[in-house]
Amino acid sequence: MEEISGGCLCGAVRYRLKALPPKISVCHCTHCQKSSGSAFSVNLLTPEADIELSGDMAVYEDRGDSGNILKRYFCPRCGSPMGSHNLLRPGMFILRAGTLDDTRVLQRVALQCWTRSRQPWVKLTCDAPEFSQAPKI
Ligand SMILES: [Zn+2]
Ligand SMILES: [Zn+2]
Repeated sequence: MEEISGGCLCGAVRYRLKALPPKISVCHCTHCQKSSGSAFSVNLLTPEADIELSGDMAVYEDRGDSGNILKRYFCPRCGSPMGSHNLLRPGMFILRAGTLDDTRVLQRVALQCWTRSRQPWVKLTCDAPEFSQAPKI
């Protein structure tokens, strides 16, 4: 299998994935907008067992729009957001898809969440199901 790798902007944090998680989700919550400095986050819900990580990450314990505790991980050197842990999803890492070395491996968006805070000028060319808040999975 071709190797799927990624890392932060400066290269201090690197990872390899044993498999590419099939589900891409786009989150429009206000916290993803703040923490990314952008309009939304693009995420891959990845089993922790599939991630081989090197380098130390800093962590910020956030309480999301949902009220749930979310640990947000980032590179302490360059500040790139790497992903998060949602305490409601043990064993899973919500990887920021933009950290992949080759984002061409990304296919279609499976869902969009927190569309109630989506920027009005954002329109993605996909027909993925939309959730005004957190999806019920
Ligand atoms: Zn970095
Ligand atoms: Zn979010």
